[in-house]
Amino acid sequence: MSDLDDLIDFLDSSPSPWHAVESTVQRLVGFERLDERASWTDVPAAGYVVRDGALIAWRLPADGDGPSTPFRLVGAHTDSPCLRVKPRPDTGGLGWKQLGVEVYGGILNNSWLDRDLGIAGRVVAADGTTALVDVAEPTARIPQLAVHLDRAVNSGGLVLDTQQHLSPVWGVGEASPGEFGDWIGRAAGLGGPPAWWELCLYDVQGAAVLGADRSLLASGRLDNQLSCWAGAQALRAASPAGQVAVVVMNDHEEVGSSSTTGASGPFLESVLSRLVAGRGGTVDDRHRALAASSCVSADNAHAVHPNYPERHEPGHQPIVNAGPALKVNSNQRYATSATTAAAFQRSCDAADVPWQVFVSRNNMPCGSTIGPLTATRLGIETVDVGVPQLSMHSARELCGAQDPLYLTRAMQAFLTG
Ligand code: ZN
Repeated sequence: MSDLDDLIDFLDSSPSPWHAVESTVQRLVGFERLDERASWTDVPAAGYVVRDGALIAWRLPADGDGPSTPFRLVGAHTDSPCLRVKPRPDTGGLGWKQLGVEVYGGILNNSWLDRDLGIAGRVVAADGTTALVDVAEPTARIPQLAVHLDRAVNSGGLVLDTQQHLSPVWGVGEASPGEFGDWIGRAAGLGGPPAWWELCLYDVQGAAVLGADRSLLASGRLDNQLSCWAGAQALRAASPAGQVAVVVMNDHEEVGSSSTTGASGPFLESVLSRLVAGRGGTVDDRHRALAASSCVSADNAHAVHPNYPERHEPGHQPIVNAGPALKVNSNQRYATSATTAAAFQRSCDAADVPWQVFVSRNNMPCGSTIGPLTATRLGIETVDVGVPQLSMHSARELCGAQDPLYLTRAMQAFLTG
């Protein structure tokens, strides 16, 4: 399987953050899983730990390893904006069965209309038993109002009320309470309806190579599962020398990162501390390690849009298939500094990978990433980078087919040192 085919397989098998973690685990062949609740007295040379929709994996250097050895981190996030099924979702009327859904993160509302939607995530029984479920069949759809009934839509723009206009239909007849729970319980192989769930709607159309020249990649969740895949590939291939290579995949970036698994939470700090202590290190060793550590925060960037060039900063317009963009913002929406940018440039040069620069317009608010949060929490110097893409936060996004491979090679060079 080519790397691009493997990325397509990763995207198609990761319709939720929990599935993205599972897809990553399947690729970490030879890595030993540790339990956060167990004692870490013997840290494996290659290992990982999972906490819900987040994962941290590492590889110790083959030579010269000590507890004060610095870390080189690659960070990304597993979650993507989507619609999630409410706890009591059975609703509808006028002959339609509908699902109550909640908006997760900053979706492009219109991109969810008229798509065949599957449902995936995790279900939990009353006794705490948890299972992943993925109904990868056309199950639900948010039908757009016909143009005949909305004559101004093409000139005035589409306005959608997220409470009123985004409820998908998923059948006909009378809605009955508990019907969805019974259905998803059967789909998950449980004996009955789950007590609770976290379930994402997603476009069942699989990732696809696009363009007459096959130069593009279209898929849901490119932001930011593309970077998760690239980070895992880089860690698998890296041979770290003089530093501990780490990949961290946080959840909840799209909703502010404040959670047990988000970048503002304690997960990364806890694991790094235990990697030091588990190898006999002291508090001083940990501070020495962190002071010499660095992080590449990978999250997709905005490629210049050919139909809206005026929305981009004229001197900093990333194009697709021209390498990862270094993201710079003096106001620290991105954590990139001159020194971390130069270090990442060296990694790109070592891997023979081209690179670009992204800066927002002054009159347009700039997004942010897990980069500044990781830098703030741990004091680790960080560079924000990302593959340029179009249609960010659409149900189906678009990027260059070559750029994920460029990013992987640059990350591998960074993690190897
Ligand atoms: Zn993102």
